[in-house]
Amino acid sequence: MSQPPKSGDRDYAFATRAIHAGAIPDPVTGARATPIHQTTSFVFDSAEHAASLFNLQTFGNVYSRISNPTVAVFEERVASLENARAALACASGMAAQMTALLAILKAGDHIVAASTLYGGTVGQLGIGFSRLGIETTFVDPSDPENFARAIRPNTRAVYGETIGNPLVNVLDIAAVAEVAHAHGVPLVIDNTVASPYLCNPCDWGADIVVHSATKYLGGHGTTMGGVVVEGGKFPWDNGKFPEMVEPSRAYHGVKFYETFGDFGYTMKARLEVNRTFGAVLSPMSAWQLLQGTETLHLRMREHCRNALKVAQFLQQHPKVRWVNYPGLPDSPYYELAKKQFRTVDGQPGASGILTFGIEGGAAAGERFIDACEFLSHLANIGDAKTLVIHPASTTHRQLNDEELRKAGVSADMVRLSVGIEDVDDILWDIDQALERATRGAA
Ligand SMILES: *Cc1c(COP(=O)(O)O)cnc(C)c1O
Repeated sequence: MSQPPKSGDRDYAFATRAIHAGAIPDPVTGARATPIHQTTSFVFDSAEHAASLFNLQTFGNVYSRISNPTVAVFEERVASLENARAALACASGMAAQMTALLAILKAGDHIVAASTLYGGTVGQLGIGFSRLGIETTFVDPSDPENFARAIRPNTRAVYGETIGNPLVNVLDIAAVAEVAHAHGVPLVIDNTVASPYLCNPCDWGADIVVHSATKYLGGHGTTMGGVVVEGGKFPWDNGKFPEMVEPSRAYHGVKFYETFGDFGYTMKARLEVNRTFGAVLSPMSAWQLLQGTETLHLRMREHCRNALKVAQFLQQHPKVRWVNYPGLPDSPYYELAKKQFRTVDGQPGASGILTFGIEGGAAAGERFIDACEFLSHLANIGDAKTLVIHPASTTHRQLNDEELRKAGVSADMVRLSVGIEDVDDILWDIDQALERATRGAA
């Protein structure tokens, strides 16, 4: 496998790793860009070579459902950007979460998760996994003690998001990691909204990080993908994870933790989940996500700058009731953002997602969306383009008032994923749409 560039002991900075980690010029052709290895399978050198690959004695490629050289560059790049040990790419963010959890959970096990997770994740854990006999307790993540209170003897994972979507609440990762570790279970963090540029959850004690690469990593709203990242510090031999320690029934009796140590979890996820369930990333998609990742640092800085300006503009706008953005000093999450997130222009970089309440409620929210000129009305985040949605009439339409309240979604809430267009144009579009949507409203 290729290695990130190393020159003696130099630790390369984020921007350098975003462009180079995991990639070397192609040794056969000299191609500088990572080639797209659009192949399902790889020729063995000899019968002996084939046998050693299947025995996991030699690292190499067999079949693209297990590993692929283009996908491997993306995996190593994200692992590097997360200051982590290893990574496994998947077909989507949902596939990454599923793979991350199925690698360590089985029927009868239990998860404690934040109640403010991305809606798709609430469905995956609360309904999808419950059908497999894996139960999830959802808790208010604002107090780490809530996670502790919900842990049971059969709990095998604690799950949260660095920044929730759509509530844009910030998790105290170090405090929740402490709770998880005190009970001998790993903390899994969805770092999609912060991206590895603003936060590295493993540095705060998380053991496994998942991303929807569909969002900021890809960054242009073109490509589905996900990735599971392993920090490499969790003691899988603590008695709670016999399948990490004992011979694998699913793969030639290999003992994942003993054989692969600090990347044993990733090997298990690759060989027992991705290989068996098949939600793998395609080489073409990996290549597209690599293009995005090369500019992640530039884009995230601009997303943060623009979002802060939009939040400040909305705060003083007469047609706006409230603004929720962790980068605003009066946000309840500002101190946590300051502690956990990279500084951008002297401010905590709080990513590009914010919500606000429009004067005139639900009807005005719908009119606002229709009145936007170039802000795109769609259900996505993390695009270079500014995106807007009114959750109560779209993503959360099925919920009744009580459920909406629990999800923290009010009828007047508009969510923006602030893009990297010229900020004055973004402010202009918001302003004119607010005027048209609230004409006649107080
Ligand atoms: C979009 C999203 C997901 C799901 O990712 P897909 O790539 O759409 O499968 C998971 N978590 C968060 C926070 C997301 O925003």
